[in-house]
Amino acid sequence: MDDRVRRGYDGRGRVVGDERRVKMTTVNFEKVSLTAIKSCKCKGCGKTIRRQKKFYQTINPFNKNKDGRVKTRKEILKELKERIATWNLQDEWHEKCLISDNAKGSWE
Ligand SMILES: [Zn+2]
Repeated sequence: MDDRVRRGYDGRGRVVGDERRVKMTTVNFEKVSLTAIKSCKCKGCGKTIRRQKKFYQTINPFNKNKDGRVKTRKEILKELKERIATWNLQDEWHEKCLISDNAKGSWE
């Protein structure tokens, strides 16, 4: 696939060109990503932790929604935001606090 065809990919799930000849490994799918930052209390020591995480999905013919249509950028962004909301609520530990908690057997 040459650059001209690649640029012709409109980002809404339509691949311009002969799909039968498209090889998965050569297609550059558009990546929709959001970076989330949170600061929360460590469950081990109680000190503040700052965490950063990147959430992403690509727009591609196999990434479909419940209706069987290829997910749009907007739909992906909505899902990423939902995942970030869940992640925001997750408990966090410093690496060392997690290890010392495990050493105490709290994971049993
Ligand atoms: Zn800690």
